[in-house]
Amino acid sequence: MVEIVVILLMANLFVAKHLDKVCNKEEKLNAVETKQKAVKAGVIQTEAPTQEPRETEASKKEKALKKEAKKLGKSMDEKLRILVNKEHKVPADYKVKLVTYKKTEKIVAKIIRAPLEQMLKDGEKEGLSFQLCSAYRSNKAQQRLVDRDVRKYKRQGLSEEEALEKTYKVVQAAGHSEHATGLAVDIVSDHNTSLNETQETTDEFQWLKAHCAEYGFILRYPHGKTGITGIIYEPWHFRYVGKEAAKFITENQLTYEEFYEMAW
Ligand SMILES: [Zn+2]
Repeated sequence: MVEIVVILLMANLFVAKHLDKVCNKEEKLNAVETKQKAVKAGVIQTEAPTQEPRETEASKKEKALKKEAKKLGKSMDEKLRILVNKEHKVPADYKVKLVTYKKTEKIVAKIIRAPLEQMLKDGEKEGLSFQLCSAYRSNKAQQRLVDRDVRKYKRQGLSEEEALEKTYKVVQAAGHSEHATGLAVDIVSDHNTSLNETQETTDEFQWLKAHCAEYGFILRYPHGKTGITGIIYEPWHFRYVGKEAAKFITENQLTYEEFYEMAW
């Protein structure tokens, strides 16, 4: 009798345990099914919400740069804020006072005459010899430059379209040249007046590159930045932006396009 009771008890236990397993399995299946339904219905999301990415050193630096650029932008003379490139024309209402430079036939914006004179004078004290080969240029004069280059390339066998494309890599279209603002100048060495990359090797350029920001100028079309400026490397074209902005742009190796984007 006792044996029968023990056997029955064991049998019960087995059944209960087995049932428990079955129930658990069913519960789990139910739970999975419920979750799947909820996902389908959009009640719950399958992925945990992504965590805020930690601020990287690079983005911290960029934030600080932007903040500084904005500050500089606010204090910058309004006449100097102008951006002129392939996309940005000189605005029709842009007015700047033009003056002649040191009794030469060259014309510059009045605002840059004194710093330009000081810069070249200080360079000359170091034994350097500069030539100011281009300064203010009217839109008409700019158009003449474009036409001249297009004619030259067409003589070489290029189509009108090809000639224009080649020209605009070096010469800006009328209305799109910084020279029309009076704020830009082309300065070359007296010993090498070629407007090409050989200018880079002259002592005059090396000195200007190292010191132009102290006088408020920037090298406007730096090496390796054609993708941003749209203009080839021009180790002769300098643009006046004022001392503080020039220092900031030069130290951070920015183009004026990048600065403009951050400042305003
Ligand atoms: Zn130029």
